[in-house]
Amino acid sequence: MKQEMLDRVLSSQRLPSLPAIAMQVIDLVKQDDADIKEIAATIQNDPALSSKILKTVNSSFYGQAYSISTVSHALVVLGLKAVKTLALGFSLVHNLKDGGGDGFDHMRFWKRCLFGATAAKVFAEKAKLPEAEEAFLGALLQDLGVMAMNQTLGAEYGDVLVEAGKDHTKLSAMERDTLQTDHLEVGVALAESWKLPDLLVASIKFHEDPEPADITCRKVVRAVALGGFAAEVFMVNEWGDDTQKATALDGFRRRAEAWFAWEPDEAEPLLKEVHKNTNEMQRLFELPTGELGNADLILSEANEALMALSMQAVQETVQLEQKNAQLTEDVYTDPLTKAANRRKFDEFLDEQYKACAAGGSPLSVLFLDADHFKKFNDTYGHATGDRVLIILAETLQQVFGEKGVPCRYGGEEFAVILPNIDRKQAAQLAEAARVAIAEAPIESDEGEELHITASIGVATQEDGFFKSAEQLVKAADNGVYAAKKSGRNAVRVFVPRKKAA
Ligand code: GH3
Ligand code: MG
Ligand code: MG
Repeated sequence: MKQEMLDRVLSSQRLPSLPAIAMQVIDLVKQDDADIKEIAATIQNDPALSSKILKTVNSSFYGQAYSISTVSHALVVLGLKAVKTLALGFSLVHNLKDGGGDGFDHMRFWKRCLFGATAAKVFAEKAKLPEAEEAFLGALLQDLGVMAMNQTLGAEYGDVLVEAGKDHTKLSAMERDTLQTDHLEVGVALAESWKLPDLLVASIKFHEDPEPADITCRKVVRAVALGGFAAEVFMVNEWGDDTQKATALDGFRRRAEAWFAWEPDEAEPLLKEVHKNTNEMQRLFELPTGELGNADLILSEANEALMALSMQAVQETVQLEQKNAQLTEDVYTDPLTKAANRRKFDEFLDEQYKACAAGGSPLSVLFLDADHFKKFNDTYGHATGDRVLIILAETLQQVFGEKGVPCRYGGEEFAVILPNIDRKQAAQLAEAARVAIAEAPIESDEGEELHITASIGVATQEDGFFKSAEQLVKAADNGVYAAKKSGRNAVRVFVPRKKAA
């Protein structure tokens, strides 16, 4: 299906042909022993092309100190590469620039190509790549496939172009959806059939994602691809909203950083240079690119939009973090008393038990159960009972402070994990808690002062006596049972038999 489509495009009568002069230049520069005189003569055979090249080498873009009046002089001064690039660029563009059908926006197409090409050259030079000229030409031809599909498929492709709208970043995905191939594949097939140099073929093939390109040409292809992102910054200004402008600038910044390690304050001045050079190139190539807009204005608008978007993103991140923190807290918090819940108890105990086993420091666990709470509820009502539970949690918090984590274990039972607290200290703290609970005033619905008591059990892991956290908990719980049996409102501390003896 894909091959069928490629064949259809490549065998079409309407496909743009490679101009004879371009073909000759390609052949000549491919020869190792290419003679400058011969190349000059070939180019001079085409007066329109020679005059364009001379106009270009004398433009401020190449910044020559003195005027150059012959193609052979240009070849000596600028070198073979630059002249070859110009000769190919001019002849190809000349041949291609008028093609197109419905839905094809010439002005936009060539403006994008030219922005991308000058940008690719600026970036390649900045990165000190020897192939700056190839980067220019590669970027200029990167969308050759768009041109070819547009000319050969007519309305069928016009619909895709209209559908993709102005946003070039969506184009290739839509092409693949509708036509099973995209402008990268078509461009590559066409460039290969024209026998364009490998570096140009690679530029077309990888201009959207340079990373899979061969290591020998990846840097140049990155310059080409970054040129596309730079072009987007200027192009989006014509149709995009603030978010799209910000996204384009962000896209450029991120690739500049990833591919060339250029921070924004290094990369963005390059965009101004790109804009200036594109202005110049636009005249030389005589392309129907229209107004380019004001670079300072475009860039400051994009920067403002990105700043606003980043701030919004930061705010959203903060809100999300707060929400997540809240959710985490909810998971570990008892809604009524705001104390830690059973889940927190289990996880924290597990953690502390392991730490205690590893480090040998003591770990105490305290269990507490409100006395005759059922009766309290029955007498004063469930709402007052709820208040009691809240007061119990608060009282435990006050007594233990930083020393332990009070948890609501369930119902009217609380547990406190006390890391680094030995048996004696735990017993004293438990006694302090018992007294504080008994003294804490509780207001009834009628306004009278009520009191509650609690039975408390304590167990401490010392010298690895307990073989598991469950055993430790069980011992503390047994302490509660013993305290209840002794008449309630009491503390019972578990003491290992051999120590007791
Ligand atoms: P003991 O001294 O032997 O512990 O007696 P008790 O009445 O406290 O023990 P029992 O286990 O028989 O009763 C516990 C009561 O705790 C019964 C239940 O209604 C009450 N309770 C459990 N959770 C809550 C709660 O969230 N709010 C209120 N108000 N009461 C609760
Ligand atoms: Mg109970
Ligand atoms: Mg009870």
